[in-house]
This record gives sequence, structure tokens and C-alpha cells, in this order.
Amino acid sequence: MAAPLILIVEDEAPLSELLRYNLEKAGYRVQIAANGEDALHWVDVDVPDLAVVDWMLPDLSGIEVCRALRSRTETRKLPIIMLTARGEESDRVLGFESGVDDYVVKPYSPRELIARVQAQLRRNDVHNAVLVKEYAGVTIDLEAHRVKRNDKPVHLSPTCFKLLETLMERPEYVYSRERLLNRVWGRDVYVEARTVDVHIRRLRQALGVGGGKDIIRTVRGAGYALDQNKI
Ligand code: CA
Repeated sequence: MAAPLILIVEDEAPLSELLRYNLEKAGYRVQIAANGEDALHWVDVDVPDLAVVDWMLPDLSGIEVCRALRSRTETRKLPIIMLTARGEESDRVLGFESGVDDYVVKPYSPRELIARVQAQLRRNDVHNAVLVKEYAGVTIDLEAHRVKRNDKPVHLSPTCFKLLETLMERPEYVYSRERLLNRVWGRDVYVEARTVDVHIRRLRQALGVGGGKDIIRTVRGAGYALDQNKI
């Protein structure tokens, strides 16, 4: 299954490229359109799963692009996130009336935008699983079962892979050993808590590939977390 395709409609190349970088890192495919006409052209080529549209565009405004997308059968229900420097209530109302699903006000953090994209895709039930996750230079590809650290392959046993997959669901959250046991080994299997420690040690070693710093935090008496800012 192909990753969801995101159409970015933004005339400022540095901004659209930054967006492309972050969205691709999050596992999405990206098509950039520099203006409204270009956007409608790309929609004809390949219907996207979601559009991120900047309000301020050189030819058609973002609002007009939304209206145009809404008037076409194949993009009538396309989730649209509008990027705007304007936060005023009246503008938002105009946007929602034109069929905008959500707003992100500039300047925004890539993390915030990606969270909004995920929320929209989930709401619209677009094969919502993000198959590639990234944290602190570690990427895990859940489909291909591949892990990389700063682009270098990391070789993990199936158990360590599952352990990492679990920890990557909520970076910086401390998972207790019991929780990890249930998630990775299953509730019905009797495994000693120390087994978790053993696999954490292996995972730590494997992630140290190429001298990458240790990002697994041990919280005495509580459990383990991925934490790039660990002390
Ligand atoms: Ca713009």
C-alpha cells in the first residue's frame, strides 16, 4: 500500500521544501504546487489524500483553491489544512465556509503540522497508519521492518524490534516493565521482568551503531523511555 500523498500548495519554496522534508520523514509522499493552477494540475495527475494550502498565493488565493477543489468530484471530500499568517476569527470563518477542515497558523512547528495531518487522515480514514516513525535520528519502518540510525542500518531481533516499536509510539513516555512485557511478549506469556532489561540492553547496543548516543533512559523503579535529552 502506498503511503498517503500530501499536496502542498505554497509559493515560497523554502517553506514548501521544509514541509516536504518533514512530511517525507514522517512517511508521507509529497507533491508540491507553487500556485493554485499548478495545484489543480497535480490533482488531475494524481488525487492526493490531503492538501496543505497556504492562504497567500500569487494567483488564486488559498480560499479560491479550496473552493476549486471542493467543486471537483474527485476532491470534494479531500481533507484540507490551511496555512495562514492571519489568526482573525473572520478569516477562519471564511475559510471554514470554503471547505477548509483545519487551520495551522504560521509560524508553526513541523511536529504540530504533522499531528494535524495525522488527525485529518485518521478522521477521513485514509489508510491512517503511519508506517515510518522517526525520533532522535532513529527511523523505524513498520512495513519493511527496517530500522536506521542516522541512515545507517540497525539490525534487531524480532523482540527488540517490537520493543523499539512500542517505545517509539510515545517518545519520552516512561513504560513500566510490566507494560513492556504485555506489549512485546503478550499478556499470556510468563516472562521474568529481567528479560525486559536484557532486551533493553541489546536494543541499546544495536542503536549505538556508528557511535550514536544512547537515547534509552532507565528510570529506576519505573521503567524505560526513549529520551534524547536524557541526563
Ligand atoms: Ca505563500
